[in-house]
Amino acid sequence: MADQRDPVIAVSAISKALGSGELQVQALRSVSFTIYEGEFVAIMGPSGSGKTTLLGILGCLDRPTSGSYQLVGEEVSTLDETQRARVRGGRIGFVFQAYNLLPRATAYKNVELPLIYARTPSRERRARVLAALDAVGLADRASHRPTQLSGGQQQRVAIARALVVVPSVLLADEPTGNLDSQSADEILEILEGLHQSGTTIVIVTHSDEVAARTGRIVRLADGAVAADSPVERKPVLQVVQ
Ligand code: ADP
Ligand code: MG
Repeated sequence: MADQRDPVIAVSAISKALGSGELQVQALRSVSFTIYEGEFVAIMGPSGSGKTTLLGILGCLDRPTSGSYQLVGEEVSTLDETQRARVRGGRIGFVFQAYNLLPRATAYKNVELPLIYARTPSRERRARVLAALDAVGLADRASHRPTQLSGGQQQRVAIARALVVVPSVLLADEPTGNLDSQSADEILEILEGLHQSGTTIVIVTHSDEVAARTGRIVRLADGAVAADSPVERKPVLQVVQ
């Protein structure tokens, strides 16, 4: 059961104010939840409900105005930018809607970069980069640049880049939002495979179809958690002849 596993993400009453003065917005209001190792969680909610703000905090790109965030037991809500960069590099894999690959670098180089930042010895890097590209079905595209790849392939490179450091959690903000349905399905199959092999995944999505393939849906409304529930699996009917 999920609650017998170790917590990866534990947020408690986190709030986030954005902007200042009359334009200040309460983007998150006292958000609390725990995500356990191996969970596959969808964050949903209308546009402006705080999904990207929340994922940015979970990914240590930003920090909450108040509240506690423990990532694998470490309180990260109070860390400064340098300390958060260390946590990001070691513990977080991030996938964005717009892929965010370096346009002039090959797929290989894009995936290698986090290992260079993590000071992985060069003799180890090659095998790990090739294994990560292989895991997303792109071993034969290592020397292609992003412009020589389809959108779906670029997103697969971004997933390989996110996973090459073996993060504690994979965070994805609308990873299929820019893709046609076939490419989106390929990305979801990769995420499902990663989930089956034990990776903890949090995905922001607008799509009920995508969310139905996860194990749990956290719904935000106006910066607060409106619902948090397991995905109901339809029982598989077995026809006995
Ligand atoms: P979502 O991803 O669910 O669409 P966001 O997290 O992007 O929502 O935004 C949550 C709220 O915070 C929205 O009301 C948005 O307008 C506001 N917001 C986002 N970024 C900023 C910013 N840099 N300054 C002021 N308000 C912001
Ligand atoms: Mg958003």
